[in-house]
Amino acid sequence: MENMILQLSYLIGSITFIMGLKMLSHPETARKGNLVAAAGMAIAIFATIFLYKHNGESLHNYAWIFGGLILGTVVGTIAAKKVQMTAMPEMVSLFNGMGGACAMLISLVEYGKPEEKSTGMLVVIALGMMIGTVSFAGSMIAWGKLNGKIKDRTIPGGQVINFAIFGGLIVLDAMVIMGMSAGNPMLFYGILALSALYGVLFVMPIGGADMPVVISLLNSFTGVAAAFGGFLYDNPVMLTGGILVGSAGTILTILMCKAMNRSLKNVLIGSFGAAKTGGAAGSKDQGAYKEISLNDTATLMAYASKVMIIPGYGLAVAQAQHTCHELEKVLNEKGVEVSYGIHPVAGRMPGHMNVLLAEADVPYEKLLEMEDANDQMGGTNVVLILGANDVVNPAAKEDPSSPIYGMPILEVEKADHVIVNKRSMKPGYAGIENELFFRPKSSMLFGDAKKVLQSLVGELKQM
Ligand code: NDP
Repeated sequence: MENMILQLSYLIGSITFIMGLKMLSHPETARKGNLVAAAGMAIAIFATIFLYKHNGESLHNYAWIFGGLILGTVVGTIAAKKVQMTAMPEMVSLFNGMGGACAMLISLVEYGKPEEKSTGMLVVIALGMMIGTVSFAGSMIAWGKLNGKIKDRTIPGGQVINFAIFGGLIVLDAMVIMGMSAGNPMLFYGILALSALYGVLFVMPIGGADMPVVISLLNSFTGVAAAFGGFLYDNPVMLTGGILVGSAGTILTILMCKAMNRSLKNVLIGSFGAAKTGGAAGSKDQGAYKEISLNDTATLMAYASKVMIIPGYGLAVAQAQHTCHELEKVLNEKGVEVSYGIHPVAGRMPGHMNVLLAEADVPYEKLLEMEDANDQMGGTNVVLILGANDVVNPAAKEDPSSPIYGMPILEVEKADHVIVNKRSMKPGYAGIENELFFRPKSSMLFGDAKKVLQSLVGELKQM
């Protein structure tokens, strides 16, 4: 009977995980999806703690188990509540690293047990150790790089070294799986050391803007490592969860690469970082740009029939989403139709802009995906770019020497007027200049996005 309840709880855990993932694909249901999956997983965890039996014996060590659970819950809750939207990728990386570390520890513990191990078990232990450790070490480096504690570093001959380490890892894994480490555990601990080194060297040279892609890839590694744990303990919910995280991470990695029109190989070798120091677009003399006043911007928008707002990373930095929604409402009151053009890689993580605007209660139907936004651009009177740069850079379409060449962009120049709000003429994350700012249709509206929007709302209310 107890076993039946346990298996039922695993089924509930697996089904809610799948439902949660499905719900995460829409901003309206995403929050609930997260809770549904977490509730299902909590049921599976507590059922395991109280009902699981190993060789007829229940689990003990409750103090350790609950100590860990309470500590993890407290730290995780505080961290998630306090995190700034802009620091989200680094928190995801840190949490993902913890998953990798768990997989690594599982392999370490299971390897250390005196019982005889089948080849199947050795496969799972050795591969779980390798993938979990790479994910842990890589995620820690990614976390350090995103919060600025670790700088990008290209190691001379790094790719050859990585290739050699990877080759060494395959050999060690094969030896452990063939049972050759029975009298020589150093072979197994060699996997731990080489995997940690590989994780560090693999992530170290990757450029900052590519970090979310790497985090997503490491996320899929953690999923696979967790699935190995599921095999090891014959635990269906761990297996399903691991496989789902592994495949979702892989799909997300592919989607992000597609949105930037770059191959995964190109991301991993890292050409964006190199672009920061050179590139044709960076050295070209762009000529003069023109500025626009707040009053003229307000007038232009008030008399427009269609305005499209293009949010970017700067909007998130300025935390201007609520003021942006206020601007939209004021314009609506004046009979102006307002929509938002959302680029898939605007900001610093997938869905960044959707989450940000949803937080400010912007209706979802006003958020246009890039293709729809580009279709509607022709009939738009004013485009207001708020802290976006790379996602509207025409070099992606026009300059084959540009590092972002080939990335689909929001084609804002199809609109009648383009107003760009940012604080200076500094480049965006790809580190390249943006010719759009110098084009005849464009005008610069300098200042912090939140302050500029507040002033714009004030001006419009007086009109
Ligand atoms: P960018 O990083 O290209 O540009 C952001 C602009 O915001 C900067 O030029 C900056 O200019 C401006 N800015 C910063 N702070 C403020 C502020 N307080 N008020 C107003 N403006 C501000 O952002 P995009 O969103 O256009 O592009 C995203 C980039 O990130 C792309 O290169 C993309 O490939 C990359 N990326 C995104 C991923 C994702 O999943 N979203 C994943 C991987 C990479 P200034 O300093 O002059 O104010």
